[in-house]
Amino acid sequence: MSENAALVVSDIHKKFGDHEVLKGISLTASKGDVISLIGSSGSGKSTFLRCINLLEVPTSGEIQVHGENIAFKTDKRGERIPANSRQVEQMRSRLSMVFQGFNLWSHMTVMENIIEAPIHVLGVSKAEAIERAEEHLNRVGLYERKDYYPAHMSGGQQQRAAIARALAMNPDVMLFDEPTSALDPELVGEVLKVMRGLAEEGRTMIVVTHEMSFARDVSNHVVYLHQGVIEEQGDPQEVFTNPKSERMKQFLSPKY
Ligand code: ADP
Ligand code: MG
Repeated sequence: MSENAALVVSDIHKKFGDHEVLKGISLTASKGDVISLIGSSGSGKSTFLRCINLLEVPTSGEIQVHGENIAFKTDKRGERIPANSRQVEQMRSRLSMVFQGFNLWSHMTVMENIIEAPIHVLGVSKAEAIERAEEHLNRVGLYERKDYYPAHMSGGQQQRAAIARALAMNPDVMLFDEPTSALDPELVGEVLKVMRGLAEEGRTMIVVTHEMSFARDVSNHVVYLHQGVIEEQGDPQEVFTNPKSERMKQFLSPKY
């Protein structure tokens, strides 16, 4: 494995009861990689992202963040759980996630949303957290909205605020789960533009997306998931121009 690896996921399986949703997924994200994860609804994309940051515990398989393996143990009921909650908290602060539904705290202003975790998880002073938050807000074009509540902003603005909140943790890897799927079509572009900028800055990103032009033009690696298995992956230009698997051809065809 490259010493540049920010994240190494090895042979992840995830079962819900008898339903095996992930059937052995391995993926390495090196520094600066932008990996697009595509596939039909129900193929396991969200479950995979949720396993990476332990919102779901993988039934088996290993996760290495920043060179450190996450430790697991078996609880009294025979279920696999993380062995060390401090390690989980630490790794979560290295991987920040942006959700489809923005998930901003509705009772907090944009600024309050952004400084909450840096202050309480990273131990940054309030003054410094605010200063950094202002930079991130400028970055996503929302400085003027810093004292707004989420309900008073458009979906695109809320999602850009959520991206600023993720940036405020200075994460090694940013995880995006269909960040534009809940948006009205005319608001998709402003969020993609911010994400494209992050990619150009060299941020390491794993992005679940249905935006094929983003996958093709912005990411440097595409992974196509089908029923919990990586059916095909590779360089976006190659994979999109000349998909090898029939399923991937079918998946792509209606979009052109
Ligand atoms: P995608 O994001 O690709 O649409 P998901 O990862 O959300 O797919 O879901 C993959 C499969 O796992 C689906 O069949 C879904 O019903 C199932 N699944 C997801 N989360 C749970 C859960 N918490 N309990 C039971 N089944 C789940
Ligand atoms: Mg999903």
